[in-house]
Amino acid sequence: MKTIYLDHASTCPIHPDVITKMIPYIIEHFGNPSSMHTLGKHAKEGIKETRRGLAAFIGAEKEEIVFTSGGTEANNLAIKGVAYANRKKGNHIITSSIEHKAILEPCKFLESEGWSVTYLPVNRFGTVDPKDVMSAITDKTVLISIMHANNEIGTIEPIKEISAIAHERGVYMHTDAVQSFGHIPTKVDDIGVDLMSLSAHKIYGPKGVGALYVRGGTRIVPIMHGGEQENGKRAGTENIVGIVGLGAAVELAAKEMELESKRLTELRDKLINRLLAVAPDIILNGDRVNRLPNNISICIGGIEGETIMMKLNQNHLITSVGSACSSGKRGISHVLNAIGVPETFAYGALRVTLGRDTIEEDLDYLIEILRPTIIDLRYVGYRWQ
Ligand SMILES: *Cc1c(COP(=O)(O)O)cnc(C)c1O
Repeated sequence: MKTIYLDHASTCPIHPDVITKMIPYIIEHFGNPSSMHTLGKHAKEGIKETRRGLAAFIGAEKEEIVFTSGGTEANNLAIKGVAYANRKKGNHIITSSIEHKAILEPCKFLESEGWSVTYLPVNRFGTVDPKDVMSAITDKTVLISIMHANNEIGTIEPIKEISAIAHERGVYMHTDAVQSFGHIPTKVDDIGVDLMSLSAHKIYGPKGVGALYVRGGTRIVPIMHGGEQENGKRAGTENIVGIVGLGAAVELAAKEMELESKRLTELRDKLINRLLAVAPDIILNGDRVNRLPNNISICIGGIEGETIMMKLNQNHLITSVGSACSSGKRGISHVLNAIGVPETFAYGALRVTLGRDTIEEDLDYLIEILRPTIIDLRYVGYRWQ
């Protein structure tokens, strides 16, 4: 029985074309790109090519790309790098209550150093209201960071509107685009951001590599100190193999994103309808329309999501309960908490995220397994509250 992987929001398998592009950089082009000799030049060429392709894909200049060890480091560099560089102007940051931990934790860290952070609420679909951003801005605000799309519930945020508000007030705008990058358009001028985080392993590239887009003229200091790599913004010998892999993944996305997102949106909507029809007390999390093409997030009333996920796993279906981080209440994700999912439902979270290999038959099989599983679980342990 083949494994059906439906957890692409956590990570993706590396695409064969990406592997093919990476291999020469493992075997032959192993030089240090800072070296003057031929081997160094070959390695440097690999980085240059990714920089060129990535810049074109997001509509940026080559000099505006800073390669990092992934989305987490890109977020840390954006938050701490902009905060420290603009400390004279103020000590206030605005973000949302549904961000990834890689945003929330650097913000918390800055709070421990005397910074003030506003965590904006979201509506029941998980959307930030641009008006709330407007009223949160003070003379001391140096950065606004709102994610482009949420990793748990798939909601796409109105970044363009929020960027416009930020710029009206002279505040830098960052977005964590790790989930949206390569899945929906992320041209930096269209969404208006000054900084944007992205990661390779969510788009069929390798883990441990990503980038931060930094608009020219943005005041930012490095958080990793050492050599002069990445224009002095990120020290350390470059992860060439990873960076070349990122470049190949971007190339793939550039070719296939439009058609693939259309295909996945159709599969997604069909699956949502079928899931909601399985039992009356199943709810969809996130926005029905403004959501990532590959994200389906539901809550099943009165059942533990973890139990369902494990049952599906036994049947070779790989899904997820969302994210592991809780918000004080045991086991309920901070995102489901923020959108106000009642407790009896919030424990029953199940996230299904589709990918390049997903076909309709996989989803037929998911429904086929899920329906009796829910009925069985209800029979043994349903607690009506
Ligand atoms: C996966 C993810 C990250 C972290 O990226 P890594 O490359 O795994 O460090 C950050 N933000 C969001 C929204 C993510 O989905």
